[in-house]
Amino acid sequence: RHYCSYNLEFNEVALGEIFFVRRYRFIEEENYFMEKLLISLLSPLFNAIKYNNAIDEAQTDPLTGALNRIGMEKGFKREIELAKRNKDDLSILLFDIDYFKKINDTYGHDFGDTVLKEISSHIKSCIRTTDVFARFGGEEFVVLLNNTDKSGALLLAERIRQQIEQTSVMFDNEEVFYTSSIGIATMNNRDDRDSLFNRADKALYEAKNNGRNRVVISQS
Ligand code: GH3
Ligand code: MG
Ligand code: MG
Repeated sequence: RHYCSYNLEFNEVALGEIFFVRRYRFIEEENYFMEKLLISLLSPLFNAIKYNNAIDEAQTDPLTGALNRIGMEKGFKREIELAKRNKDDLSILLFDIDYFKKINDTYGHDFGDTVLKEISSHIKSCIRTTDVFARFGGEEFVVLLNNTDKSGALLLAERIRQQIEQTSVMFDNEEVFYTSSIGIATMNNRDDRDSLFNRADKALYEAKNNGRNRVVISQS
């Protein structure tokens, strides 16, 4: 096999590497031709990558790296359509950190930010890369679990809740613990985006009212 490869660069920005492979040798005229083509590719490729990055950035929360509200709504629309078309289960988890205002008041806003980052990477490590994960409020996160029924969602939420409860963040020499409440809803035939979200929100409200640091699932 014969290879030739090019490192593509435009305005001193690395765009990636491109490989050409075949069974017989490349001759000089062919390389020359490929290089001419690649040169005309550089500027549009650079613009396409820039455009893609801008779209990603516009949908990402800078503090936690989770999706922001714009990203969440896009993910929501896609997942609901997919689940309805394929008759798959779709579950939603709503997280709200307990007494987060107190954490901010006691240890400061920067420490609060560290807790948000910690929780977010925690949740991310427990879900699949295909799950939609977003920060939709100050200390509120949402996860959309495709192909996941009530019992699967409950199991996962309870596992994350327990792990969050057991994790601490250091403030000077003090170990600071925090907890979260989680509301769950699994999509039924009558649900649309709003009704699904509202049922999870109600379940979350119930989790708060029943003492926090717990998971509640919407029964309907
Ligand atoms: P509850 O158990 O009822 O949820 O109590 P709570 O204190 O968590 O609820 P509340 O909604 O009153 O407080 C949310 C707090 O989150 C208030 C706000 O100061 C804080 N917050 C919102 N966004 C950020 C952020 O980006 N960074 C930090 N550090 N704090 C934030
Ligand atoms: Mg809140
Ligand atoms: Mg809260």
